[in-house]
Amino acid sequence: MSLSNRLSVKTPDQAVFYNDLVSQHGSPILVLDCEKVTAQYRALSEQLPGVDFFYAIKSLPHPAVIQTLSSLGCGFDIATSGEIELLQTLSTAVRHRVIHTHPIKRDADIRDALRFGCTTFIVDNIWELEKFIPYRHRVGLLIRVSFPNPNTDIDLSKKFGCREDDVMLLVQKAQSLGIHVKGLSFHAGSQCATSANHVHAIKQCTKIMDDIYQQCGKLLSILDIGGGFPVQYTKTVQTIQEFCPPIREALQQLPDHIQVLAEPGRFLSATCMEAVSRVMGKAQRGDMTWYYLDDGVYGSYSGQIFDHVTYPISIFSDINELETAVIAGPTCDSIDVIDEGLQMPPLSIGDLVVGHQMGAYTYATATNFNLFDKASVVVINENNLSADNILPFAQTQ
Ligand SMILES: *Cc1c(COP(=O)(O)O)cnc(C)c1O
Repeated sequence: MSLSNRLSVKTPDQAVFYNDLVSQHGSPILVLDCEKVTAQYRALSEQLPGVDFFYAIKSLPHPAVIQTLSSLGCGFDIATSGEIELLQTLSTAVRHRVIHTHPIKRDADIRDALRFGCTTFIVDNIWELEKFIPYRHRVGLLIRVSFPNPNTDIDLSKKFGCREDDVMLLVQKAQSLGIHVKGLSFHAGSQCATSANHVHAIKQCTKIMDDIYQQCGKLLSILDIGGGFPVQYTKTVQTIQEFCPPIREALQQLPDHIQVLAEPGRFLSATCMEAVSRVMGKAQRGDMTWYYLDDGVYGSYSGQIFDHVTYPISIFSDINELETAVIAGPTCDSIDVIDEGLQMPPLSIGDLVVGHQMGAYTYATATNFNLFDKASVVVINENNLSADNILPFAQTQ
């Protein structure tokens, strides 16, 4: 990708906000702005009226995000007992607005979720279905169908989901076991550049549900359209206002009684965090100036590896001359490089580097490799929360 595409050089006065936070909290930090979570939720629900949203906690499992979304009426998509524990520390109101979406579970995972109040689970094969025999009076299942997506960097159709042709068999098997199947689900791939795969999947699911009614007399009542809603990093993707109309149109073809769910992760969490780090050392090596930040790809920038994302970054300078530079992380490993060959004005030790759109799959996958502390999260604009929802500060780290 083009380097200038990634790097913005801002004026030093634009660093004041970040400098203030760093002088208060140290560095590296991740600044989590709850108002941005609210704005994303509003934008998505405006585009998909009538859809019930369940935030995919794995993208950013932070209490401030969960509280903000909960106060807006959003439900939660959980996949592990750890995610349930996180919800358990919060208000009880979320308990009846959860769905468990991991297609492969241990018995203990199922029991923990049931105990928490979750009754909706996802399966994609016979062995998983049989795990619900002991709980058949307490659950309604969604069958996850696979729709391969060649147009995403993160294709989720290989690891999970049954073939379209196998759905009928699973529904019949469930019927014979006395287990209630209440609908279908899919995940069209993460950070989808367009909504074409969502639209294709909705159309196919509409057909499958009709076939199931015709052949088994079984009326399904839920379609879960998953996540995959994109945000703008450095590559151009459709805006949410371009992405959603074809989905809306496809959903209109569903019979009226179908309840539509979605499990957005990235779209709700990506824009709310900025990573603020400082240059902790520099060196001249060959014709490149190396800058070593106190955060890197083992920390907040881990999504560059796991999530295949290039985050926009900003530096602050009023120097006009440019040099060729490398921006690296702090660990002793050679892959810990954020970018190289950047044309940029020189920085000094202590200067700030800010990464943008760093809420989704960043903090969630950060490590403390080399025993460098992970960035601490600084929550701002939490005041839209009612008093009984606010957590003790200790839990926000
Ligand atoms: C990760 C995940 C999501 C969220 O996907 P995004 O692309 O972040 O919106 C939703 N549902 C399931 C089952 C997931 O595994």
